[in-house]
Amino acid sequence: MPKLRGVLLDLDGTLANTEDYNYAYATNKPVEELLEYKLYQFLRPVLKVISWEEFIELYIRANKEIKAELHGTAASHNRYLYIQKTLELCGINFVPDIIQRAVDFYFDEMLKKTVLYPGVLEGLKQMKFNQLSTCMITDFTADIQIRKIRKLGIMKYIDYMVTSEEAGADKPHVEQAVLALKKLHLRQEEVVMIGNNPKTDIELAHRFGLRSVLFDPRGLYQNQKGKETFYAQDFSEVMKWLGVPKVEYSRKKLLVLDFVGTLTTEKSMIEEVIGTFVRKDPAFVSAEYQLFRQGTITESEFWFRVGVSEVKKAHKAIDAAITIRRSVISLLEKLKKKYKLVLLTDFPQQWGRQIFENRGLDRLFDRMIFGGDTDFVKPDARLYNHLLTLYPDISPENIALVDDTQQALASGRDLLMHTILVENAASRHTAFVPDTIIKDILDLGQALEKNERVNR
Ligand SMILES: [Mg+2]
Repeated sequence: MPKLRGVLLDLDGTLANTEDYNYAYATNKPVEELLEYKLYQFLRPVLKVISWEEFIELYIRANKEIKAELHGTAASHNRYLYIQKTLELCGINFVPDIIQRAVDFYFDEMLKKTVLYPGVLEGLKQMKFNQLSTCMITDFTADIQIRKIRKLGIMKYIDYMVTSEEAGADKPHVEQAVLALKKLHLRQEEVVMIGNNPKTDIELAHRFGLRSVLFDPRGLYQNQKGKETFYAQDFSEVMKWLGVPKVEYSRKKLLVLDFVGTLTTEKSMIEEVIGTFVRKDPAFVSAEYQLFRQGTITESEFWFRVGVSEVKKAHKAIDAAITIRRSVISLLEKLKKKYKLVLLTDFPQQWGRQIFENRGLDRLFDRMIFGGDTDFVKPDARLYNHLLTLYPDISPENIALVDDTQQALASGRDLLMHTILVENAASRHTAFVPDTIIKDILDLGQALEKNERVNR
């Protein structure tokens, strides 16, 4: 069996209790706690003489009719349609303002009660700590599912979401899973489907050739073996079956800093550093520099090609071209008390190590990783994975990554690191949105503090 690389997750009734106060499922709850009963109370002023018993009968009928008419689509779950149809069945004319407020009320009430099932948060974290990709696949409209996820606060552990609204069909049609694998860039045999419903989640997995877990927190199917690969009532059993080991971390924090453009006044390596003493076309120098960084040419070959004959002189010229402000150094001294500092840069180690030693800055860092120290260059995800292996006791969630390149941050974000972009004129905008953006490295202390306040 190929290595597990991703997990498809159902939301309602699997990760969270969103269905537990529905009339259809909450058989053991007092009627006052049911969402439909609250909805009935809310609609009382227009329902007037209609009793709860009459209302719920008509509501269920409306529900069934909509589901039959719109079978297998996201719209079949639409509360606007249920409520509108119920009112129609009650002989009440079209009252859009009341329908709109009733729908908002219904979901506000649902979200008040919405919590994750025990062990789910821990499980999602462990999946991400073990570098599994996660995609939610869920029958409903995107707007409501996004509201639920925001309430649950699990955004950073879910890489993607596919709703039946987006895929065009409810489960067990396989469209959602097809789209999910496309987003994840994974194959069927590399993922597992986790869901609470044998007829939808497990049936889809069966049809699409996925391994599946029937996660049954309410114990509805404990005595019947269906098409699932594995059955569990406890999320920690699911994690065990997936073979995802529990990772324990210390409380230590890591601050990972880029060099040129982040700590230096100079923003651009080619124009503002090498360009101060090399007079060739920057595009040519840049291309040669890439060859040197990739190890295709040696350092002396690089200097020769760009017209510099003495390597020692070149090193001196580079050192002279780099400016690290005194205020930046005192900032790092301050941050060092709270964080382990790591320098992570593609800047060649042949030049960098000496520059830091000459200025006595090497003592600030727990570790300095220059270009050439590893086999990887930014934004290769393996470089950030390597960093995690160097600090196995530090949670990726306690690692802040500071860089002026968005692509470099994106690789760290996928591993749950906090990403801070130092935005400058040289920053090229990509689709990636960092957690925090600062204009000057001196704003870093404040940005870190703010993030901690938010996450506390
Ligand atoms: Mg479900």
